[in-house]
Amino acid sequence: MQPMREAKPSPNRARPGRLRLRITAAAESIVRGGHPWVFAESVREQNRQGAAGELAVIYDRKDEFLAVGLFDPDSPIRVRVLQVGKPQTIDANWWRARLDAAVRRRHGLFDQRTTGYRLVNGESDGWPGLVLDRYDTTLVLKVYTVVWRARLAEIISLICEQLKPERMILRMSRNIQGPALSKGSPPHPGPLPPAGAEGELPPGGTRNWRDGEVVFQKCAGPPPSPNSGAARGAGAPVGFLETGLRFEADVVRGQKTGFFLDQRENRQCVESLAAGRRVLNAFSFSGGFSLYAARGRAKSVTDLDLSAHALAAAERNFKLNEDEPGMARCLREGVQADAFEWLEGHRERRFELIVLDPPSLARREAERAGAIRAYGKLAGDALNHLSHDGILVACSCSAHVSVEEFFGAVRQGAARTGRKFAELRTTRHAPDHPATFKEAEYLKGIFLKLS
Ligand code: SAH
Repeated sequence: MQPMREAKPSPNRARPGRLRLRITAAAESIVRGGHPWVFAESVREQNRQGAAGELAVIYDRKDEFLAVGLFDPDSPIRVRVLQVGKPQTIDANWWRARLDAAVRRRHGLFDQRTTGYRLVNGESDGWPGLVLDRYDTTLVLKVYTVVWRARLAEIISLICEQLKPERMILRMSRNIQGPALSKGSPPHPGPLPPAGAEGELPPGGTRNWRDGEVVFQKCAGPPPSPNSGAARGAGAPVGFLETGLRFEADVVRGQKTGFFLDQRENRQCVESLAAGRRVLNAFSFSGGFSLYAARGRAKSVTDLDLSAHALAAAERNFKLNEDEPGMARCLREGVQADAFEWLEGHRERRFELIVLDPPSLARREAERAGAIRAYGKLAGDALNHLSHDGILVACSCSAHVSVEEFFGAVRQGAARTGRKFAELRTTRHAPDHPATFKEAEYLKGIFLKLS
């Protein structure tokens, strides 16, 4: 990478001090085509060193504005693009318009029977590395990159102003967490003051944000404390509705933002297939698929998970819905075990519907081939527990495994058992979890029926 020459004078020219980059021709066309990442190796010239979260302006070969984004000197994703093509000032109004666009995109998707869903889905909604989930009147903001750290005060304040939640929890992915949240750290009495002049790093940059922190609390009453996860017994987890089913989520400590909101539509499919069947929900987490199966008049549901906390949450969620027609007659059991081992053995256990929704089996590219083999093996092992006419629902949330690779692995794993099956459907992303570029496409599902 070379030091940058001065851009030729133009109306769009940035003021001195602004971080300016030029990138390779190939990267230019990728960015122009709407891809939101500029990788470190694509940066050709840079006028000075930049700080994490600083705005970086990218100029094209003609020294015209190409894009502006959030800079990260330590990440292979050097710039996360915010705006491409037309120069715009990234100020409070710009952020507000971005948030409005994400909210508008979801208008009409859900009625009052669904109060838990995703409001902002990262890059695909124009907010790189940031998600915002609604759990009834609680919002959970999760950031996956340090570029947001310096802007959190501004963004939190903006979200509270626009969406008026009762409270808001901040979650930070493990790679960017600061010191652990100490017990009893007081919530802020109200929205944080707006911060940050246009284009500058706001003063919030120095604040020590912590994972699980209550960053906004409107009403009096106990906020969820760091130890208030339902599984820990103290305090109140957050309740919400998904298609009329009652759930609780541990928004302070739970995986992702506390619940797997991305599986709603697959769960609805399971509900429609479950009548009269014994259902195994492998990798059950808090029992999402099981509750739908039970409402769909399954004969029984078995939650299988390695985590005792997850199984306890699943049991509580089941109890919360006992008055649902159909649920009262559905038997429920929880099995704490390694699902890979359990499925390999326990051949005596038969089911008519099995859901496989493991955690990501390929967290990095190097794990891709192993993950593909594991998906095939899991599918084959599960089929061995299915009786005649049984249904397998296999899901993958590994972004590194493509749709074709995953579907191929499941089909082959099933074929290896020698049993005949038909494909009922394949599924992709939920409408509140849009994926606008390849790397964002992680979720896929395939439904097979034995004949
Ligand atoms: N299907 C769930 C989400 C699954 S998340 C839903 O609809 O909400 C993945 C789950 O797999 C987590 O609960 C985790 O505890 C569990 N898990 C991870 N490794 C496991 C293993 N080897 N055996 C069983 N469960 C496992």
